[in-house]
Amino acid sequence: MSKPTLLEAMKQRPLLGDGAMGTQLMMAGLESGACGEEWNLTHPEFVLGIQRRYAEAGSDVILTNTFGGSRIMLNRHGNADNVAAINKAAVDIVREAFTGAGRDGYVVGDIGPFGGLMEPYGEFTEQQVREAFEEQANALVDAGADAIIIETQTGLEELGIAIAAAKEAGAKCVIGSMAYDVTLDGSTFRTMMGIDPERAAEFMQDAGADVVALNCGTGMDMQRANEAIQRYKEATGLPVMAQPNAGQPKLINMKVVYDETPAEMVKGVVPLLETGTNIVGACCGSTPDHIRAFRGAIDEYLKKG
Ligand SMILES: [Zn+2]
Repeated sequence: MSKPTLLEAMKQRPLLGDGAMGTQLMMAGLESGACGEEWNLTHPEFVLGIQRRYAEAGSDVILTNTFGGSRIMLNRHGNADNVAAINKAAVDIVREAFTGAGRDGYVVGDIGPFGGLMEPYGEFTEQQVREAFEEQANALVDAGADAIIIETQTGLEELGIAIAAAKEAGAKCVIGSMAYDVTLDGSTFRTMMGIDPERAAEFMQDAGADVVALNCGTGMDMQRANEAIQRYKEATGLPVMAQPNAGQPKLINMKVVYDETPAEMVKGVVPLLETGTNIVGACCGSTPDHIRAFRGAIDEYLKKG
C-alpha cells in the first residue's frame, strides 16, 4: 500500500503540525532581521536540529524554513540568486529531519508574505509579486514538497496571487492561512486588512485552495483559534488547520518572550479536535515541548476513539 497523500491522511485522522521556526532560529543565534532562510545553505545543521526535534516530538507535518524564501524577500539580504537553492535545501532538510527521527511525515513548503505593498499603495507590481510566488512555489514543488502553505496572510489580493502560483506550480495540496488580530474591544477578530474568517474561507474555496487555515496573529490563543475554525467550518466544507502562537509576546530584558507554557496551551488541543480540526500545530514562541504535549493529547484523544 502506498503512502496516502497529505490530503488523504488528514481526512483519515487529525495530524500534528510543528511549532515555531523563527523564534527557534533566534535561540540558535540568528540575529533579529538577519536572513533565516539563508541558514538552509550556510547553517543547515541548525535548521535540521530544530526540525528533527519537532519530528522526534511527534510532528506529522513540518513546514520548510522558507517563510521569507521568495525573490522579493531574499533580495533584501542579497540572496535573490539563491531562491531555488534555498527552497530546495529547505525541503531536503525536512525530509532528513523525518528520516533522522525514524518517523514518516509530510513536507509542507512554506510561503510567507512578500513583505511589501502592491501598486498603487506600494512599489511592487502585481506581476512582480506573481513571478516571485511562482518562482518559489516551483522550487518547492520541484524539490518534492507534499504541499504548499501560504501563511500569515492578511489580505485577499496577495493570498489569491499566491494560491494561483502554487496551483500553477502543480502543488498537490494548497493551504491558505490567515493571521487574525483580536479587536480592541475583544468582541471578535479579523485580519489587519479587515478580513473575517467567513470571507477568507469562501475566498480560498473559490480560489481552489485545499485547506483553510489560520496561524499567528495577535491575541489569537487556542480558544480564539477554535472560534475561527468553527467559523471556517460554517463557511466551507474544506479541511481546516490551526497554528496559533504560544500566547502573547512580552518584552522581558529586551527579549521577546511568549508566555504560554506547553501545559497551558495543550488544554486547547482536544477542543480543536472536537471541532474537527484536521491539522493542529503552533506558531511563534512554541517549542518542541509544546508539540510533544500536543502529541500526547492527540494520541490520547485517538485512543478513546
Ligand atoms: Zn507566528
